[in-house]
Amino acid sequence: MTDIFDAELEQRLVRYAAIDSQSDMDRPGAPSTECQHAMLDLMVEELTAIGAAEVVKQPYGTVTATIPGNRPGPTIGFLAHVDTAPQFNATGVKPRVIRGYNGGDITFPDAPDLVLSPKDFPYLAEKVGQDIITASGTTLLGADDKSGIAVIMTAARYLLANPDLPRPTIRIAFTPDEEIGRGVDARLPADLGADFAYTFDGGDLGEVVYETFTADFATVTVTGVSIHPGEATGKLVNAIHLASRIVGTLPQATLTPETTADREGFLHCVDMSGDAAQMTLRLILRDFELDGLAAKGDLLRQVCAAVAATEPRARHRRDRAAVPQHALLARGQHGSGRPRPRRAGRYRHRPDRDRDPRRDRRLAADRDGRALPQSLHRAAERAWPARVHFRAGHGPRDRTDARNRGARDRLSLCPTVPGG
Ligand SMILES: [Zn+2]
Repeated sequence: MTDIFDAELEQRLVRYAAIDSQSDMDRPGAPSTECQHAMLDLMVEELTAIGAAEVVKQPYGTVTATIPGNRPGPTIGFLAHVDTAPQFNATGVKPRVIRGYNGGDITFPDAPDLVLSPKDFPYLAEKVGQDIITASGTTLLGADDKSGIAVIMTAARYLLANPDLPRPTIRIAFTPDEEIGRGVDARLPADLGADFAYTFDGGDLGEVVYETFTADFATVTVTGVSIHPGEATGKLVNAIHLASRIVGTLPQATLTPETTADREGFLHCVDMSGDAAQMTLRLILRDFELDGLAAKGDLLRQVCAAVAATEPRARHRRDRAAVPQHALLARGQHGSGRPRPRRAGRYRHRPDRDRDPRRDRRLAADRDGRALPQSLHRAAERAWPARVHFRAGHGPRDRTDARNRGARDRLSLCPTVPGG
């Protein structure tokens, strides 16, 4: 502990992390989960207690507040999100502090088999001698973004307790639902009233990310034909096979998060679930350019269409006219998705990561989306009276949903076999 703020930062992070405020993509509303109100209401309470002005819980959940300025200058916004990632258990978080990390493996009291090792995470080795905060092994910690909240709250408390410290007007916004791409309500920029703003979220010490990609989310629903296996000959269509074919046809040697760097975009399949009757794929699409983002949506559509086209007797139908995503983005949704900053456009003290030398060897055809479906050149031999349904947007049920409806493509394979 060397900094006057360390104790307060630690105490706040540990206290906030213990509160379950997980968001849920499958639930409507803002916030998507009731439990996020616990954090939002606590922020109202604590901001009020430390003397912040204009503390408001907005109708869309975001808590805004003001640290009054004592100098002329632009109004600065400080932003962080109260929700934690939906991918892992967030109930019963028990943060614990490891004092003076010794550089060895870190074990977890509630998960004896779990080990956090600097062999797997070299970054950990840079932290020898420092205090490390982890969860107990059965939950996430939620330092993303409870640490951002802790930083802003600590700074706010200090500035408000020292009113003579020079500062322009500072506006604070704590948003819900960032992890599911629904965090920024269209009303927030006007309600915040900042000339520019900083988001406090995960990153290396001293790193400032000044640009990020824009984001789309896509859902692909594959409906097979469910028939008792004893009577399945020539009739059953297994949705798992179709969904696997879509995944297998999407680029894997490029255009994925693990094969791209810097300003390259990607498609990333984050979830595949269902059964033989119906499968759902969820993908996130990322690009720094709007036309690049649109191209990734087009590529996904092409792959879905190609899989659909492997049924020679089926009809291919679009139920709705396509509206390019960039049209939505141009209407103000730019960056409102899940813009996890990448290793591009940043200032940092230690520029120790070079360009990935593999990137220049990537197949141009694949990058352009022309390396499509080689595995599909052989058409299926059998009828697939199945449907492949593609939908893209910034999230299932956010404010943009009504506008997104026109953007949904529906690629369908319709039954052509009587009784199929
Ligand atoms: Zn975050």
